[in-house]
Amino acid sequence: MQILSVPLDLVLLGPPGSGKGTQAARLAAKYGIPAIATGDILRAQVEAGTPLGLQVKAYLDRGELAPDKLVIDIIRHRLSDPDTLLGFILDGFPRTVRQAQALDALLAELERPLDAVLYLQVDRQSLLDRLGHRAEIDQRSDDRPDVIAHRIDVFLDQTAPLIDYYRQQSKLRLIDGRQPADQVAAAIDGLIGSLQ
Ligand code: ADP
Repeated sequence: MQILSVPLDLVLLGPPGSGKGTQAARLAAKYGIPAIATGDILRAQVEAGTPLGLQVKAYLDRGELAPDKLVIDIIRHRLSDPDTLLGFILDGFPRTVRQAQALDALLAELERPLDAVLYLQVDRQSLLDRLGHRAEIDQRSDDRPDVIAHRIDVFLDQTAPLIDYYRQQSKLRLIDGRQPADQVAAAIDGLIGSLQ
């Protein structure tokens, strides 16, 4: 594990299947900071049958986004946990401009603006191939071909505007997500090195 000299606050941005989860988990282990994946948090709530889970299940199953207010509240609570003091990696949040604005407001309150937003770029066909393979091994109810295609459309429609949002803040860093995972990892490590 590498000790960070200054806190590292990152967002991993990218379409479904772009490898955000893989890279987030690796960075979390490498730097000893939490990877916070809203998709995982929401799925856990569905599994546990909590009121929140019941509320969001239909959105997840259809590949639609859960309501902004709900995920923003989750993130607000999670970022107040002490394990985020040395940094965090957000995976799958923000996903709308409204979520990004809420995150900016929250981090401004905490006086810790984002260090960078890493955008994992992958073309649509590669995403369909990858998620199609993943569907053969996992149990996710949203990894069905029609829902996969819809999740990519939802990304293009609601999340892709964040590319410009963060470019305007000079926070955006592009990563070629079509490369093998270890090469993506090396590219990310290079970028983080330049931030420290
Ligand atoms: P993927 O990136 O492969 O779609 P995720 O686990 O990140 O997988 O997300 C799965 C689902 O969880 C999304 O399709 C959506 O329904 C819900 N979700 C996750 N993050 C958010 C978010 N920030 N805002 C709204 N819904 C979300």
